[in-house]
Amino acid sequence: MVSWAIAVHGGAGVDPALPVERQEEARRVLERCLQMGATALRAGLAAVDVVEMVVRELETDPVFNSGRGSALTRKGTVEMEASIMDGRGRRCGAVSGISTVKNPVSLARLVMERSPHSYLAFDGAEDFARDQGVELVDNSYFITEENVGMLKLAKEANSIMFDYRVPLTGADTCSASAGLVGAKAEGVLQMNGLPISIYAPETVGCVVVDCSGGCAAATSTGGLMNKMNGRIGDSPLIGSGTYACDACAVSCTGEGEAIIRSTLARDVAALMEYKGLGLQEAVDYAVKERLDEGKAGLIAVSGNGEVAIGFNTVGMFRGCATEEGFMEVGIW
Ligand code: ASP
Repeated sequence: MVSWAIAVHGGAGVDPALPVERQEEARRVLERCLQMGATALRAGLAAVDVVEMVVRELETDPVFNSGRGSALTRKGTVEMEASIMDGRGRRCGAVSGISTVKNPVSLARLVMERSPHSYLAFDGAEDFARDQGVELVDNSYFITEENVGMLKLAKEANSIMFDYRVPLTGADTCSASAGLVGAKAEGVLQMNGLPISIYAPETVGCVVVDCSGGCAAATSTGGLMNKMNGRIGDSPLIGSGTYACDACAVSCTGEGEAIIRSTLARDVAALMEYKGLGLQEAVDYAVKERLDEGKAGLIAVSGNGEVAIGFNTVGMFRGCATEEGFMEVGIW
């Protein structure tokens, strides 16, 4: 028997000027999800069921950038993405370009369990969703007033984009690398060429190790605000944004292009499997050595019940809970 553990995230790259009410709202949602996951784990649910359930909850709440409340493409539409991986047998499923499915993470699970494939996108994924009878909603369900306003700001910001980068110091990092590099324009931190305040870095993810030592990970996102139509980020890419095996489960968040370049989630697992590193050591190494400064973060659990967090952005919405009764939610 292993002590279960769960971690959730609601995105890396938090705006340092984020209003307190918004911080509290995010903390409340993360706490609710952790409690929900902990109750399910106490009842003996398998890791893969728990990550799907928690991510569905996050997709349904418009507070983060997944499902309802997803970031918008430059055409003002949603193209959501999600993935899920069960460490037991390394089974996985992923979807991209989703615009009518209420819970993309559950569609990813159906790809894993009921299709001969691992990854379906756009029309093919929507056809599969209809065949499977998943809950569909009108595209407008996903589009919040707040995000329409953010898209407008993002378009304006892109037209005045600054392209020089300076190191910023004094950022409070969690357990990973110190220091931060971002583009600074009149004090505005940028990611992917957008001020962090409108970049919508609030992808969600969940990793779980259950009491039999089974690990699973799931990640879901609307992607980047003002992204090109057809853009695919790290979140649905197994090995980049999501990975699970017997050793660990990992879910990443931040600038997808940087996470893809570093195959971040798989690197954490490979460091454990091939180099024999412990979970936190592997997370620290991957964040420090593989990831561009100031770009992303991740949550991870190991098959023997450990939980680890690492990021090199100013903040990351995150939380974790363990069977021993430990529970923590943090932003900075
Ligand atoms: N990684 C996501 C993407 O690039 C964004 C995020 O994590 O907030 O689509």
